Amino acid sequence: MIINVKTDKRTEMVDITSKVEDALKETGIMAGLVHLYSMHTTAAITINENADPDVRSDISKTLDKLIPWENNYQHMEGNSAAHLKTTLVGTSELIPIENGKLMLGTWQAVFFCEFDGPRHRKVKLTFMKS
Ligand code: ZN
Repeated sequence: MIINVKTDKRTEMVDITSKVEDALKETGIMAGLVHLYSMHTTAAITINENADPDVRSDISKTLDKLIPWENNYQHMEGNSAAHLKTTLVGTSELIPIENGKLMLGTWQAVFFCEFDGPRHRKVKLTFMKS
């Protein structure tokens, strides 16, 4: 199953939890795992807090500080920072499913991390039944 994500900014953390939950409902799976995979070299997947939006902006700001957009990179396309951030954050997550629901903690949400937007992106979901 594929989830489409449209991003609006160069750097953005988009909460895709409800999209993953909708996809899970469609499968009817009650217990197992879902693997989420960003099919891109400049966009990642992470799980973190969605209650306070400042957490998202703190993560983005800190990544920008660690990996500035301009840094004498050699990659001709000019988006090396986005490639580096993607490698640091990672392109996949694995979430347990119990009672037909994602086993996320109270404050956890699944974020699609855009590092070179705006773009139309795809996340591959693989459900495993147990
Ligand atoms: Zn590139």
